[in-house]
Amino acid sequence: MTTPDMPWGTYAPGMAQLPGTQVPGTALPGTPPPGTPGLPPQLAPAAPAAPAQPTAGSAATRSGRFTPEAARRDVPVLQRPVNGRPVVWLDNGATTQKPRQVIETLAAYYATANSNIHRGAHTMAREATELYEGGRAAVAGFLGAPSPDTIVFTRGTTEAVNLVAQSWGRANLGPGDEILVSTLEHHSNIVPWQLIAKERRARVVPIPLLPDGSIDQDAYADLLSFRTQLVAISHASNVLGTVPPVKEMTALAHRYDAKVLVDGAQAVAHFPVDVQDLDSDFYVFSGHKLYAPTGIGALYAKPEVLAGMPPWQGGGNMIDQVEFGRVTYAPVPHRFEAGTGHISGVAGLRSAIDWLSSFGREAVAAYETALLAHARQALAAVPGLTVLGDAPEKIAVLTFTLAGHDPMTVARWLDQAGIAVRAGHHCAQPSLRHYGLETATRASLALYNTAEEVDQLAASLTQLQLQGAG
Ligand code: PMP
Repeated sequence: MTTPDMPWGTYAPGMAQLPGTQVPGTALPGTPPPGTPGLPPQLAPAAPAAPAQPTAGSAATRSGRFTPEAARRDVPVLQRPVNGRPVVWLDNGATTQKPRQVIETLAAYYATANSNIHRGAHTMAREATELYEGGRAAVAGFLGAPSPDTIVFTRGTTEAVNLVAQSWGRANLGPGDEILVSTLEHHSNIVPWQLIAKERRARVVPIPLLPDGSIDQDAYADLLSFRTQLVAISHASNVLGTVPPVKEMTALAHRYDAKVLVDGAQAVAHFPVDVQDLDSDFYVFSGHKLYAPTGIGALYAKPEVLAGMPPWQGGGNMIDQVEFGRVTYAPVPHRFEAGTGHISGVAGLRSAIDWLSSFGREAVAAYETALLAHARQALAAVPGLTVLGDAPEKIAVLTFTLAGHDPMTVARWLDQAGIAVRAGHHCAQPSLRHYGLETATRASLALYNTAEEVDQLAASLTQLQLQGAG
């Protein structure tokens, strides 16, 4: 492996305990199944997922109580300094840091297993295909989906929503139809609907929020009608942290025969998800917010819904027969995966799912809830700090304003102390405007963050306030 120069020094394998220090019982997949003798253990395909197993009680679960230190030991980048201080990564809503299991899987894929898939009659093509399809089975298991065929790989959440809007939306929306979109959505769950609504002369109708940042359920019930074709809601808001009652909202939408798309980008890393229990028609997420590489994500769609959807992009892999006068398409889900997919990304995604699941999903969720409570308390003591969003169900996202300081100044100040937070509109302008704001600062926590890191954040913000006062 090469040792590229990085801004803070040189990266070499073996640094930060890279190879060969696997925590016993972690989910670096075990022995290759029969028929895949060439694949290294990191790349062994997942067993078929139907019926899906809940991941919380995964066989790979590490014994004992979850501790963030166990997770931190696996994540090399958390060892690096930023501005002379150990990095405090509180920008997990933007992207999460990667465990070495995922990093090693990517390296192992390119070092030992690289091939295109679904084509070629050679051994490595077959292995890569099994790896890719094994990843699909793993995602199906992770989401509680009924079968791997309900999973379409995409670049991420944004592409998955666009896929649904362009394929399902173009086929099913017409003049006067309505798409209800909650006000707390990320732009990627608003703009694709605006684009297709304009084309189909349908309407995007916002569902308002209450002052605490939860979705106004009375208003939602009033807005639903037989004109409603689709409801688009986040499973967790990237700005307010709100976790809406998605299951109940879905049941209500179904009374009007409306479909429901759930944006799980901020949910899947934080709590277990079961798309069949939620009864979601569509569920989308991004790998990179789940400790996996960028450029890979997935769409789940109910089998009968996916089967009725036309292709949205044309190219290789998605066809059956091509003649100049006629074309027939591959069955789902391949019909929606034109071109060469992100094969190593799928391997990395599976590795990330295994890594997260190895801690026990419920244990991680409980830890993050406790960390959120600690963070709320710590930030409440900072003079002039106001946290946006106080919904009853909330993930560990703390978006705030600090009196007398604009959000970018706050983020730069924290950066000097090695603390990474995000400042800006967070690609969710309607959420912020609900509070009369254009920008704010956001700390978003993950399983490897600690109470000490949260205390450092609060101390640094207090220092900024005191310095401003002085
Ligand atoms: N939805 C939500 C709730 C998000 O937080 C994000 C990313 N910030 C997205 C969608 C878009 O994800 P991606 O950029 O990975 O497609």
